[in-house]
Amino acid sequence: MGQYHCRVSRHGVFSDLVGQDDAVETLRRAAEAAARVVAGEPVGSGAMTHAWIFTGPPGAGRSLAARAFAAALECERGGAGCGECHGCHTVLGRTHADVRFVAPEGLSIGVGEMRALVLRAATAPSGGRWQVVVIEDADRLTEAAGNALLKAIEEPPPRTVFLLCTPSTHPDDISVTIRSRCRLVALRQPPADAVATALVERDGLAAETAAWAAAAAQGDITRARLLAADPEARSRREAVLAVPKRLTGVGACFDVAATLVTAAKAEAADNVAESDAAERSALEQALGAGGTGRGAAGAMRGAAGQIKDLEKRQKSRATRAQRDALDRALVDLAGFYRDVLVTAFQAPVSVVHGDAAPQSEAAARKWTAESTLRRLEAVLACRESINQNVKPEIAVEAMMLTLWRG
Ligand SMILES: [Zn+2]
Repeated sequence: MGQYHCRVSRHGVFSDLVGQDDAVETLRRAAEAAARVVAGEPVGSGAMTHAWIFTGPPGAGRSLAARAFAAALECERGGAGCGECHGCHTVLGRTHADVRFVAPEGLSIGVGEMRALVLRAATAPSGGRWQVVVIEDADRLTEAAGNALLKAIEEPPPRTVFLLCTPSTHPDDISVTIRSRCRLVALRQPPADAVATALVERDGLAAETAAWAAAAAQGDITRARLLAADPEARSRREAVLAVPKRLTGVGACFDVAATLVTAAKAEAADNVAESDAAERSALEQALGAGGTGRGAAGAMRGAAGQIKDLEKRQKSRATRAQRDALDRALVDLAGFYRDVLVTAFQAPVSVVHGDAAPQSEAAARKWTAESTLRRLEAVLACRESINQNVKPEIAVEAMMLTLWRG
């Protein structure tokens, strides 16, 4: 317990950023400088910046890092990010009045949303510190939304900070002009053993479970926690790892593809069902309450329009959730073929899916390295195709045929 407390007080809000010491050091210094700005003390130029980009592979903790930094900026203890004060707590719980999180519900962030946000971000922070805008998928900004954001970043209000999260600084992910105005925090994929240690020390997991979950989640601490805690997440993963041995012919390829896509849809539907229902009943209530004072026909038309808007947004969010679920499955599958290669070459690195080692070892004996590589590439190409809006069924079927033939 004493050790636990020591870790928290030493790292505070940054303690979830496992294996990211350089990034944490940069952010801590900036938050301390920001606190000096608030206190009216002198600060060296460049110590604090108004616009930041957090990059890194999925699971590296881009959003975690941005949220932790936002908490440190609002921390009541001199930007320490103590994790204990009201400022830290409310930011981490996403309820701080001066910190707004933007995550696209659909496949992109539109210009209307961005303009409204920029406008609110320009107001004075109610808590007297900083207005912070966290854009969790800045790679999904539409061009117009990106331009609206760029204007705000070019002439930032004195107490406004923009935190952008994107997979990389490639122009496909973020415009070159926005990139040039931001300070970069590059996060890396944390090593599995660092994640395992964190799961043992902070979540109290047994060492063996922690090691398995950290490896299976390929360094993504959020997913590792889910795998350790949620039997459904584990059985979904097992079904994905069973895919290679189920591919016995063309017919099986189509069957397995359909199963995989259907499972992703079901998982996504589960994930959005609760918020869909809550939003719908909130809207119906609002419409019912406001319907008495106006002309009945006009109110009906307005209500139908609002319900239609909500349905459109929910459909878009469902599509996004399906793609995310399918992508997680594909990452697991790519891990398997990577394990086959690692085993075939006896590479001195550990496998991702230790519990599927008998299958990956058998495959390593049976397949040539070239055909394993083609299979791995097929999984990566499938991810890319889905990312480029190819219909998931078609992309997955094409992948299965290559996984079978090699
Ligand atoms: Zn604090």
